[in-house]
Amino acid sequence: MGHIGTVVIVHLLLHFLVPLLPALTLYRKKWLVSYGMLLAGLLIDVDHLLADPIYDPGRCSIGFHPLHTAIPIVAYSLLMLFPKTRLIGMGLIIHVVLDAIDCQMTSGIWYTAG
Ligand SMILES: [Zn+2]
Repeated sequence: MGHIGTVVIVHLLLHFLVPLLPALTLYRKKWLVSYGMLLAGLLIDVDHLLADPIYDPGRCSIGFHPLHTAIPIVAYSLLMLFPKTRLIGMGLIIHVVLDAIDCQMTSGIWYTAG
C-alpha cells in the first residue's frame, strides 16, 4: 500500500475513533446512542457522489464539495447551540475538522468557496 492508501485508512479510522471521545467523556451514560448520532456526521460525504472523481486524494474536501463549504459549516455549528441537535452538529464539526487536517496531510489543494 502506498503513502496515499495509508493516509486514507488513517483518515477513515479517525472519522470513527474521534467521535468516541466526546461520547465516552461527555455522554458516558448514553455513549452508544450518542456515538451513533455523532457518526451521522459522516453522512455529509454523500456530496462526494456529485464530484468526478468521487474521491481524489490530492483534493481537499473543504470548500469543494457542496456540504463542505462555508455556509453549511456555519449551520453545523449553529446545530450545536441546541440540546436536541447538539450531537449531530458536533459530529458534523468533527468531520469538517478531520477533513481539514486531511488536507494538510495529503498536501491537497485548498479550494476557495464559490
Ligand atoms: Zn468529508
